Amino acid sequence: MAKDLAKLSINMATVQEQWNLAQCLDGFARHGIGGIAVWRHRLAEVGLKEAARMIRDSGLAVSGLCRAGYFAANDAAGRQRALDEFRQAVDEAATIGAACLVAVAGGLPEGSKDLAGTRRQVWEGLAKVVEFARAAGVRIAIEPLHPMYAADRCCINTMTQALDLCDALGEGVGVAVDCYHVWWDPELQRGIGRAGKTRLLAFHICDWLVPTRDLLLDRGMMGDGVIDLPLIRGWMQAAGYDGMAEVEIFSAENWWKRDPDEVCRIAVERYQSAV
Ligand code: ZN
Repeated sequence: MAKDLAKLSINMATVQEQWNLAQCLDGFARHGIGGIAVWRHRLAEVGLKEAARMIRDSGLAVSGLCRAGYFAANDAAGRQRALDEFRQAVDEAATIGAACLVAVAGGLPEGSKDLAGTRRQVWEGLAKVVEFARAAGVRIAIEPLHPMYAADRCCINTMTQALDLCDALGEGVGVAVDCYHVWWDPELQRGIGRAGKTRLLAFHICDWLVPTRDLLLDRGMMGDGVIDLPLIRGWMQAAGYDGMAEVEIFSAENWWKRDPDEVCRIAVERYQSAV
């Protein structure tokens, strides 16, 4: 039986070189896709109020707002900036009705080799914003990123780490399961089960290409790589996840160079056949 396209979302990053917010909303709707994930700088381009109106008028659901975090810094002023920024992102997520605000922890501060200390700063940072997010009705989705990004993007690298944070932070905090980042983890199935329905806040899909030519910008379309997406999707469903599947593909040399309507068409096809 065909999957419901109302449960399919596309992250704007997937066509970021081709379409702006208005074009994404129009294009995704034209392809029958039910949702969109939005980046904060795209909201800034058109202004938050206007962006919220455009999104509302499109009828698309917002599977997530990308992103805030990068908590660790070498001084108190830097850490404070991150917290201010995070609270602003919470307000934006509330304004556009995002299903979650994606939290990316950030990596080591410049010059630092203190990974444990950096992780502690992330913990402390999240603890300082969680109440604000709760009050705004915005769910924080901690996204573990593949360990290859531990230095510069995200020092939270496994579901276990993310869920330990969730346990400590309590209500309103969960995880974004991005297959690209966690597919390799032998604890993944257990992590998804441990998260459970209330803490599984997002499901990001794409594929891992072999070989991968660029660690950031060579993600594959679902079905073109080695990730067993139906297996992981099954684990998500078994754990009670009933949110959207969000296509998130950073692909400088392939998908960003294609006709965006073709990207949407193929994403819909692969959602049906390879997820
Ligand atoms: Zn993601």
